[in-house]
Amino acid sequence: MNNQGRPTQPAAANMNERVTVSGSQGLNQATKLIFETGTPRRTGVDLPKPKGHASRLGAHVRQGEIGLPGLSEPETMRHYVRLSQKNYAIDLGVYPLGSCTMKHNPRLNEKVARMPGFADVHPLQPTSTVQGALELMYELSDWLMTLCNMPAVALTPKAGAHGELCGMMAIRARLDHDGASHKRRVLVPESAHGTNPATAVQCGFTVDEIPANAGGRVDMDALKAKLEGLGADSDIAGIMLTNPNTCGLFETDIIEIAELIHAAGGYFYCDGANFNALVGRVRPGDLGVDAMHINLHKTFSTPHGGGGPGSGPTVLSDALKDHAPVPYVVKTDEGFDLIEDPDDKSFGRMCAFHGQMGMYSRALTYMMSHGSDGLKQATEDAVLNANYVQASLSDVMTTAFEGTCMHEALFDDRFLKGTGVDTLDFAKAMIDEGYHPMTMYFPLVVHGAMLIEPTESESKGELDRFIRAMRSLAQRAKAGEVESFKNAPVYAPLRRLDETRAARNPVLRWSAPDETAQAAE
Ligand SMILES: *Cc1c(COP(=O)(O)O)cnc(C)c1O
Repeated sequence: MNNQGRPTQPAAANMNERVTVSGSQGLNQATKLIFETGTPRRTGVDLPKPKGHASRLGAHVRQGEIGLPGLSEPETMRHYVRLSQKNYAIDLGVYPLGSCTMKHNPRLNEKVARMPGFADVHPLQPTSTVQGALELMYELSDWLMTLCNMPAVALTPKAGAHGELCGMMAIRARLDHDGASHKRRVLVPESAHGTNPATAVQCGFTVDEIPANAGGRVDMDALKAKLEGLGADSDIAGIMLTNPNTCGLFETDIIEIAELIHAAGGYFYCDGANFNALVGRVRPGDLGVDAMHINLHKTFSTPHGGGGPGSGPTVLSDALKDHAPVPYVVKTDEGFDLIEDPDDKSFGRMCAFHGQMGMYSRALTYMMSHGSDGLKQATEDAVLNANYVQASLSDVMTTAFEGTCMHEALFDDRFLKGTGVDTLDFAKAMIDEGYHPMTMYFPLVVHGAMLIEPTESESKGELDRFIRAMRSLAQRAKAGEVESFKNAPVYAPLRRLDETRAARNPVLRWSAPDETAQAAE
């Protein structure tokens, strides 16, 4: 390994296998970093020096080199095409990453998002010139409120976690407005996504954990014990609950939970990241939810992975709607307009402009092209696919909880007991089979968790191939083929990375080789 944490030799199937001179393996081209390929002295464009422009920067004129690599056009093309071929993508194969809803991104969405009236608008344009874009936002809001049966939605949050922040800030604004600033305790089930407690703390609340019961759902006795004898004036600000929860199970007591929280004077935040299991079947507003974010990039097919861009609109109940952030779109007799200034109830503003326009256009395209019947069908197919996977694997792997699941199937590592293979090894072996691993070691309430979310996008044929590979891996682990698991992945461009070192000692800046040599002692 050099100090960039990359192997100096390309991956070979085993130690005896010949390593190629070029570093490439057949069509899998060796790729250097862009800084190693380019030099600052080269450029892919040939522009004449600007004439007659004296710099007005004075003392601020850049003194040194900017340090960007210069590449010719073919070098640039090859660099990015090679990178793209090392990347796993939903367009390449099954991507069963639980909780992430890696579904197909329909190409129609892309076509609409690229229409100049949506793609080329500037957030500071006069509203009279962007009526179509505003109408799209208004229409999207309407679909979201209808699907959730909630009276308001804040479109601007830029991801699920940002949407959580939006909902919790609305709750806090309501509490403060009511003179209930002593309400600061938020209940969070221990199976929650890490963003839930993080959001609560970020908003100045304290987190009080509720255990899960043996069935993977909220332990109602523990919840009732916490709320015992508390009136509306209690210190309870609310609860943050995911439904279906991160074990892939519907919280069957959800209505009672909402009633208990409301009786303690708290608000019900629902993490809606798993809305793909509910759309068209269940409306969160009917369950007593006060705020819920929706991951457009999960449920409504806008592309994600590798960091974004996401979009996390947050629906709000009657109790919270006046505290929604600005901006939002309104319809007037003269057309659509933007409310940009917060009144004394709104908690303010979450981002500089109006949110992720490109995600709005993709999500609304997905909704309108599916229609209400199609959305419901997608939900049902997502749940059916997950149950098909669960049922097809439950004799060779161990399901974490009894019974049917919602949109994702959760396994634990009991079936690997005594094999010497652990969840991580199993996941790495899936890479060699051509599959992105499932979500591992989450939720934390299940030992060695493997969370598989196939989504509705996969055909039965594709699922059967996936199931065959998973069954074969489970059987190989039990047959004692530990070595092959410990060596996996063999066929990936890079093999096992030192993830601990990468996290503890991230190298975020490339330095030229001579400096590197010095830096390495
Ligand atoms: C994905 C997810 C989130 C966070 O969403 P981001 O868009 O990644 O910020 C929160 N909760 C659950 C259950 C999730 O699956």
